[in-house]
Amino acid sequence: AFDETGKIWFNGEFVNWKDANIHVLSHVVHYGSSVFEGIRCYNTKKGSAILRLREHVERLFNSGKIYRMEIPYTVDEICDAIIETVKVNNLKDCYIRPIAFRGYRELGVYPLNCPMDTVIAAWEWGKYLGDDAIENGVDIGVSTWRRMAPNTLPNMAKAGANYMNSQLAKMESVSNGFDEAIMLDYHGTVSEGSGENIFLVKDGELYTPHASLSLLSGITRDSIAKLAQDMGIKVNEEAIPREMLYLADEIFMTGTAAEVTPVRSVDGIKIGNGKRGEITEKLQTKFFNIVGGVEEDEHGWLTFIE
Ligand code: PMP
Repeated sequence: AFDETGKIWFNGEFVNWKDANIHVLSHVVHYGSSVFEGIRCYNTKKGSAILRLREHVERLFNSGKIYRMEIPYTVDEICDAIIETVKVNNLKDCYIRPIAFRGYRELGVYPLNCPMDTVIAAWEWGKYLGDDAIENGVDIGVSTWRRMAPNTLPNMAKAGANYMNSQLAKMESVSNGFDEAIMLDYHGTVSEGSGENIFLVKDGELYTPHASLSLLSGITRDSIAKLAQDMGIKVNEEAIPREMLYLADEIFMTGTAAEVTPVRSVDGIKIGNGKRGEITEKLQTKFFNIVGGVEEDEHGWLTFIE
């Protein structure tokens, strides 16, 4: 839940939570013109640390570049501002949401006359798909909504407007009794969830859809792929047909919010034995040990706050 006594970084200054407002005629409100990030800070054994901070901030700037948004700060300045936001709010374990958007001036679709606003907020946010999900897994359903084709909305940008597509898929899946949606891409092969990437385990190897065409190439996806390689588990990036989901030995989803969440069924079909799989558990444990400071951060993923 939000702690409304907190401070929000708003165009370079900290303001009170309730004063972090924009005008209703801001461009972003009407046309979804924003780019944003989701980042986690973990309360590790050695103090609070932000996971893969620089990669997230670089992706924010890349998202901005795709939409010709000039974020009027450097990557270093935004990294520092994120650290300050966590500190000012005395947070240890939190979710951080930096967002840059087209602000208030005029309302033509043409965006380049509107100013850019940049905001960073942070709050405590537990397990995205529920406390139980990390251990027992979630039930997902293939959505009738497809992920955007590459020449419609660019999937490499983490842009607000993309989440209208995500919302359609998520609402449909929840109304059908599932916890999360999995979308197919414009070819009809597996793409991603409403806010997560997907991995399958088959005969001891990992499979995940190729990054470049129809999905957000997640930073957690990258972390898991690296950890798998460290553990000698082969990672195959390839086109995945829907039915390969049903035949997988194990499935899990990855994301900053969802972390590493096992999938126990797809479209009501049990995956493997319907419980968290062995390889899923191994990767999950490794991931949580690293972000928790229990195991050595060999890849240098943690930025300590103090
Ligand atoms: N796909 C979508 C659509 C997402 O919203 C997210 C969450 N940012 C991801 C994948 C996973 O990305 P990451 O691991 O970088 O959080």
